[in-house]
Amino acid sequence: MVLFMPQGRPAIPAQMKRDLLAEAGYRCSIPACRIPEPLELEHIDDWAKVREHRFENMIVLCRNCHHLFKAKRIDKRFIRHIKANLAVLSGRYSEIERRLVEMLYERGDESVMLDANDLTHLSMRNLLRDGLVAVIRPPQIETRISVPGNPIRTRTGADGAAYASGGRYTGGYELWNLTGAGRELAKRWFSAELISPDSAE
Ligand SMILES: [Zn+2]
Repeated sequence: MVLFMPQGRPAIPAQMKRDLLAEAGYRCSIPACRIPEPLELEHIDDWAKVREHRFENMIVLCRNCHHLFKAKRIDKRFIRHIKANLAVLSGRYSEIERRLVEMLYERGDESVMLDANDLTHLSMRNLLRDGLVAVIRPPQIETRISVPGNPIRTRTGADGAAYASGGRYTGGYELWNLTGAGRELAKRWFSAELISPDSAE
């Protein structure tokens, strides 16, 4: 893999290069292109303006798409949108994981309440593995209720919303939050989309 960068600037840190290439799936980031080489690293807000290499302001493009972007034939807002969705496009996180991160980010410090079951955990597997989200199961309150025609069964509730049947935990909800690392990632993904259209050139 050969990367071409203009001369006369501080080098992009090797780790940042690796992260950017991994984020783009080692291909041009433009969905209609996706060719594997030659690849270049581009500043979304121009280098002359920002004078620094920041991960969230950089994107991998092929040489041709890079030229089109420089010539303003590819819109900057489109590039920002692609950047915000790259992690999903490259397949690390599913669309539903991206939506959860987005929802949590929009809600600030608020938790999101999700059904407590294996499917929820499977859907969010990579977010959990990467330590980007944290899950809290509310304290369970056990009550015994008698149902006509049924033996006594146990009902376990958390604020009346979670329950168990026959003493086995079968459902209810859990509270999902972004971790510090998750919030950083969310900022990276979504701050680009929150920039007003006026600020795009
Ligand atoms: Zn391209």
